[in-house]
Amino acid sequence: VINRVLTGDTPTGPLHLGHWVGSLKNRLVLQQSYDCYFLIANIHAFTTKCYTPLDIRANVLAILADYLAVGLDPEKCTIFLQSDIPAIAELTIFLSMELNFSRLTRNPTLKTEIRDKNLGNNYPLGFLLYPLGQAADILCFRPTVIPVGEDQLPHLEMAKELAIKFNHKYGQKIYLPEGEALFPLFTPLLSDTKRLIGLGPPNAEGKLLKMSKSLNNAIYLHDNADLIRSKIMHMYTDPLRIKASDKGNIDQNPLWIFHKVFNPDTKWVEQASFDYANGAIGDVICKKRLVDVVVDLLAPIAKKRLDYTKNPDYLISILRKGQIKANMIANQTLMYIKEALAQHF
Ligand code: ATP
Ligand code: MG
Repeated sequence: VINRVLTGDTPTGPLHLGHWVGSLKNRLVLQQSYDCYFLIANIHAFTTKCYTPLDIRANVLAILADYLAVGLDPEKCTIFLQSDIPAIAELTIFLSMELNFSRLTRNPTLKTEIRDKNLGNNYPLGFLLYPLGQAADILCFRPTVIPVGEDQLPHLEMAKELAIKFNHKYGQKIYLPEGEALFPLFTPLLSDTKRLIGLGPPNAEGKLLKMSKSLNNAIYLHDNADLIRSKIMHMYTDPLRIKASDKGNIDQNPLWIFHKVFNPDTKWVEQASFDYANGAIGDVICKKRLVDVVVDLLAPIAKKRLDYTKNPDYLISILRKGQIKANMIANQTLMYIKEALAQHF
């Protein structure tokens, strides 16, 4: 249990720059020294995409290719599919008995998603249940560290509450190896950029939305140079700045937020953002600079990615291998739980 990492991604689309800075970069470091489990949450993708299962399937393979292209190494980490782990579904049911219904509906991440993805009242019960399913994803693996973006913190908080409840009620009822808790109290690991915003305008409340697969505001890791250029040249900037001599806002402006996150030439960013704020530099030159930065960042990833997309059988073989190892851990946890609940005969 010591030093185990679990985290994952939903195959509602391929991975984007938000994943790169928010979670993947941390995973590259962690896989060197931690026992890492990376889950592709295909069942959770059904909560919003149940009418397009073939898309979910394609996105599983796309995410796998993204993982390998950025440098996650299946020799060093375990990559697996949520639907290959029956213990997760079983644990979800056991956990659901401990979770207060109104506690679930107060979850702020759910509320934000319902609003920003325009779900209205038209979401299935399964959508409401997904934070609970996610708690099961996590607790099945009894991890100690969870690298995530900021939007996941409310879900992790809920998972932690469930872990504490279970430990308290049932932890003493089973034999565990010396020093181990039934569910170790894990630490969320945020990166420097814990919430990368997207390319689009702010919402009705004036808040820039997070880059998200489902909001059509992302630069994907597999986007080619032409697409990156077109997305950046059309991105939202300061709507009040009509000409280069107008003073510009740099704080609520994706153009400058992106430069600050991605541009290694910090001197240029400092000077150019100052000039932009004072109406002394044009938009186009600053956007072009950003295109170069993002293209440079993604070109080597795209090159590596090509090798993998040509070979889906290899990608699937990684899932098969991950499935075996992940099931060993998850089944062990489920046995502990059944023992603790006196349902292991
Ligand atoms: P969806 O729109 O379907 O919810 P998503 O883009 O939010 O997709 P997820 O699969 O939900 O991606 O998230 C996977 C992981 O990446 C989570 O840990 C999440 O916090 C992190 N993440 C996603 N988007 C961002 C972002 N814009 N900035 C930082 N981290 C992010
Ligand atoms: Mg999300």
